Amino acid sequence: MQVTRHGIDTAAGPSDWFTGAVYIDAVAAPSNGSRLSTSSVHFTPGARTHWHTHPNGQTIYVTEGVGLAQSRGGQVEVIRPGDRVFFEPGEDHWHGAAPTRFMTHLAMLEVGDDGNPATWGDHVTDEEYEAAPPIDG
Ligand code: MN
Repeated sequence: MQVTRHGIDTAAGPSDWFTGAVYIDAVAAPSNGSRLSTSSVHFTPGARTHWHTHPNGQTIYVTEGVGLAQSRGGQVEVIRPGDRVFFEPGEDHWHGAAPTRFMTHLAMLEVGDDGNPATWGDHVTDEEYEAAPPIDG
């Protein structure tokens, strides 16, 4: 048993992965053969990931606020606390906050054979982001 108390600083999301201000709290890190990676990811209004894929897929579970998520070629979906989204391995997608709301989700995945959690692509353009439906619709 290993207890970590206040030992892990919140990290700012790097700009080659995210647009806007995003903060990440590590919940579970891969170690000793476990591939589980879990983070609590806090998106400020308008912030979102770049387009990306995960080698073994990803589950996100919204805990606060109002968010958006889209799979390549699909509609932008509004997601709220209690909603869970699973992205298939290799599925190109993004997720983030609504334009006028914070959003926090847990992000859970198993890293690839090389320890890689994700492969990052282009940023989500304003045009792509603004295609979202109204969050009160
Ligand atoms: Mn993802």
